[in-house]
Amino acid sequence: MHSMAKEVGFGAALAGIIYLVASGYDITVFLLLGILVVAIWFIRSGSATVKRFKNMEGNRPNREGLKIQFDDVGGQEVPKRELIEALKFMVDLENVKRLGIKPLKGILLTGPPGTGKTLLAKAAANHTRSVFIASSGSEFIEMYAGVGAQRVRQLFSAARTSALREKCDSATIFIDEIEVIGGKRGRHTSHLEYDQTLNQLLVEMDGINLYDDVKVLVIAATNRADLLDPALLRPGRFDRIVQVNLPDKKGRLHILEIHSKGKPLENSVDFNEIARDTLGFSGAHLESLINEAAILAMRKSKTLIGQEELREAIDKVIMGEKLDRRPGKEEIDRIAHHEVGHGIVSEVLRPGSVSAITIMPRGQSLGYIRQSQEEDSHIYTRTYLENQIAILLAGSVAEELIFASKSTSSSKDFEQALEISRKLIKSGMSEAGIVDLEELPKELYHEIITGILKTQEEKASGILKSKLDALKEISAFITESGRIEGDIFRKMLGTEDT
Ligand code: ATP
Repeated sequence: MHSMAKEVGFGAALAGIIYLVASGYDITVFLLLGILVVAIWFIRSGSATVKRFKNMEGNRPNREGLKIQFDDVGGQEVPKRELIEALKFMVDLENVKRLGIKPLKGILLTGPPGTGKTLLAKAAANHTRSVFIASSGSEFIEMYAGVGAQRVRQLFSAARTSALREKCDSATIFIDEIEVIGGKRGRHTSHLEYDQTLNQLLVEMDGINLYDDVKVLVIAATNRADLLDPALLRPGRFDRIVQVNLPDKKGRLHILEIHSKGKPLENSVDFNEIARDTLGFSGAHLESLINEAAILAMRKSKTLIGQEELREAIDKVIMGEKLDRRPGKEEIDRIAHHEVGHGIVSEVLRPGSVSAITIMPRGQSLGYIRQSQEEDSHIYTRTYLENQIAILLAGSVAEELIFASKSTSSSKDFEQALEISRKLIKSGMSEAGIVDLEELPKELYHEIITGILKTQEEKASGILKSKLDALKEISAFITESGRIEGDIFRKMLGTEDT
């Protein structure tokens, strides 16, 4: 919006000049005035950049806002270890000099959003007692050539000046979204500006010297390491790449404990259960979960946050806010059977896997079953994937059994079931054996997929037919209450001891 206003302004000025020239006016005075205005604008935008970096600088260790220690980062034990080891050269300079080690100039943190990359960079700055300056790739990019490169120069010089002023002998520069300026050169349409900015970053990094008054370390973060220009990853630049993944169950537990510190919790709160039920959550999700639980407790005028609020907060973080819209009685009945269908097949195939079933309309969804998993899996067997397909198809199978018809509520389930079937074929676990998906004739591919889906649909149908009474009874319960917790569900299903 801002840059559009600028463009309109320039366009209007140009049109004015053309009009005046065409009308025979002497425009020398206007031209001089115009040059003056543009010069003032450039100086101001330059100083704004400096000001912006200045606002971020001076975050000296132990100052408010930069108290982050490695202990404040939950899970991520491997990235923490790698970082601490990489930072040794800044902490133990004498040994590094004695051994003639080349300084480490850049560390690249890669991983999904919200996993704690910024947090790790701050902890690294604190660990090395450096001045910390943060910026983001998108701040360097303007439509005017040369501005990005100028900002890169200013960033490095602001880091050095700030370190000297704060009497620190080192500075950590953090660049988030590095892929914006560090993307493969020649890829952008306005590539000249992007390329100049990246070139300037490479020049600045090449200029980092261990024997300078201020040692500079650049930590960059990205969700898309695959987009980066190889020149950035060359030795002497970002030659240390640290993978920051989604936390496992132990990591999630640690993050929950960190973010609940100082919060009033009921004694019965069991973070183990919450960590088990939040597979796929990032640190940012878990922080938000604790916050949502506190909001729910406040809404209920409670003074302590309980397990109930924490459980509900999981649903809120995954699915969004509860909606006022209440479906009609018939629709609720159908949704209840659909969700309980998923639940029963899940529980029979993987005892203990149902955490809760909800039929509250939230966000985009009308109902949902939360499955829990004791351990995070990294590889999946054929049986696991086939069972997952059966669980996904169980919703529509239940509808068919009770109402003799399916509904559109299963379309997402079908999409996921198809995706898993494709995975089965691709990894050589289908009837077809090891095949190349690209080379597989369409008809054969279709036949294999249909075969997989049909077998799993029959499996789900067999299970539900044998539990028809439970399906009806639990659906009636959930229609009334809107939600059923895993332990009550198991009791009603008669599998509580399994
Ligand atoms: P992005 O890629 O979107 O920039 P990021 O990986 O840099 O995200 P952060 O900005 O470090 O993520 O974290 C976002 C929020 O989530 C922070 O407020 C932080 O407190 C919390 N958080 C994320 N990961 C962790 C973690 N491992 N331990 C504790 N808190 C975390």
